[in-house]
Amino acid sequence: MTYTEEVMAKLKSQYSYEPEFLQAVQEVLGSLSPVLEKNEKYRKNRILERLTEPERTIGFRVDWVDDAGNIQVNRGWRVQFNSAIGPYKGGLRLHPSVNLGVLKFLGFEQIFKNSLTGLAIGGAKGGSDFDPKGKSDMEIMRFCQSFMNELFRYIGATIDVPAGDIGVGGREIGYLYGRWKKLTRSYEGVLTGKNILFGGSLARTEATGYGVVYFAQAMLADRKENLAGKTCVVSGAGNVAIYCCQKLRQIGALPVTVTDSRGMIVDPDGINVEVLQKVKEVERASLARYAELVPGAKYTPASAYAEGRHPVWDVPCFAAFPCATQNELNLADAQALIKNGCKCVAEGANMPSTLEAVHDFVSSGIAYGPAKAANAGGVATSQLEMAQNAEMQSWTFEEVDKKLKQIMDNIYKNAADTAREFGRPGNLVMGANIAGFRKVADAMIAQGI
Ligand code: NDP
Repeated sequence: MTYTEEVMAKLKSQYSYEPEFLQAVQEVLGSLSPVLEKNEKYRKNRILERLTEPERTIGFRVDWVDDAGNIQVNRGWRVQFNSAIGPYKGGLRLHPSVNLGVLKFLGFEQIFKNSLTGLAIGGAKGGSDFDPKGKSDMEIMRFCQSFMNELFRYIGATIDVPAGDIGVGGREIGYLYGRWKKLTRSYEGVLTGKNILFGGSLARTEATGYGVVYFAQAMLADRKENLAGKTCVVSGAGNVAIYCCQKLRQIGALPVTVTDSRGMIVDPDGINVEVLQKVKEVERASLARYAELVPGAKYTPASAYAEGRHPVWDVPCFAAFPCATQNELNLADAQALIKNGCKCVAEGANMPSTLEAVHDFVSSGIAYGPAKAANAGGVATSQLEMAQNAEMQSWTFEEVDKKLKQIMDNIYKNAADTAREFGRPGNLVMGANIAGFRKVADAMIAQGI
C-alpha cells in the first residue's frame, strides 16, 4: 500500500460520515504521489496524517430570539485547520446544509489555496446551519451577535481572521464586527470583507469573481486564446457569480446564464449585471424576478430540471464558471460541456465539480482551473485588507485590483510551472495541489512536532 492509500483508508474508516471532507482529501492526496515518492521526509514526519486532522475544532450552541419571540437554537463551528504558514484564515458559511464535515472540507481546501497565494495565511473555515433565507435584518443581527458571543474567544487579528462565504456578506460581517468590538473593546482587522466605512478594502467585494476571470485569462493566454467576444456560462447568483459576470462583461465576453437555488436564467443578450445586483443584493429576491425585469431572459424553475442534471451545463459556451456551491457539476455535466465545445472551466465555487467531472476535464486537455487556484482572489484580497488595517492605510480600488491581478497571474504560473516540473504540463490540479502542499508541509517539518 502506498503512503497515500494507507492514509486515505484510515480516514475513510474514521470519517465515513463526512463525504465532502473525504472527497476533498481524495482530490488532493490523489495528485501528491510524485512529490511523496521523491521525498521520504513527508512520510517520516507523518505529514499527511497531521495535515488531514484540524489543529483545533470549536463547536458551540447559537441561541437567538426570532421576531415572533420564539427561541431558536443553531449549531456553530470554527475549524482551525492549519497555521503552519500564518494565522488561520477562511470564511464563515451560513446555510442549512452546513455541518462539521462540510466545514472540514472547506477548511482543508483553504490550507492549499492560502498557501498558493504566496501570502502568509493558514487555513480555516467556520459557520452554522442557520438559514438566512426569509429572515429579517433584526433576526440576522441577533443571530450574528449570538454567534460572535462564542467565536470572539478564538479569533484575533494575528490568530484567526474569518471572512464571508455563502450567506455571509457585508451585512453579516458588519453585525459580527460590531459585536466583536463591543466584547473586546478593540478595533482591529479581526474580520475581512468589512464595510469600507470601518476598515474594509476597496475591491474585496469584487475580488473572488474578478479573480476567477483573471485566472481564466491567464490559462487561455498560455494557449493563445482569450475570452473577448466569447459566450460564457456562469452558475450561482451570489457574490462570486455577480462579480464574475461583471468582469466578463468588462472584458467583452458574454455571460448568458446565472442560477440560484430556485432556478436558472438564460439571457441571450448577456446578463445585465445592474439588474442582477438589484434582484440579489438589494431585493434579495429569487431569479424569477430578473426575468420580470429583463424581457428576453428565460427563467426555468429548479422543479423543471431533469433528475441528476443541471441544465446550465447544457448551454453551449466557450468557457464555464461554476460559482454556486460544491458538487454542482457532475460527470454528465462535464461531458455535455465538452461535447458542446467548451474550452475553459474556471471554478469560482469551492469543489463545484465532482471527482469524476474533474478527471474528465483534466483528461480532455481543456483549460481547467481548479477552485483552490482559480478562486483564491477572495482570500488574497482579504489578506490585502489585513495589510491595510495593520498599517492603518487604505489603498485605491485600482491599486488593490492591480495587486489582485498580479496574484492571480502568479498563482497560475506557480501551478503551471509545478505541473511541468512533475511531468504533467497543463494539469493544474496536480500543479496547484503540489505547490500548495510543499510550502505547508516543509513549514510543518521545520516547526517540529
Ligand atoms: P452567496 O451566498 O453570495 O451566493 C451563493 C449562490 O449560490 C446563491 O445564488 C445561492 O442561491 C447559490 N447556492 C448556494 N447553495 C446552493 C445550493 N445548495 N444549491 C443551489 N444553489 C445554491 O455565496 P458566494 O457567492 O460568496 O459563494 C459561492 C461559492 O464561492 C461557494 O462555494 C463559496 O465557498 C465560494 N467562494 C466564495 C468566496 C467569497 O469571497 N465569497 C471566496 C472563495 C470561494 P440562493 O440565492 O437561492 O441562495
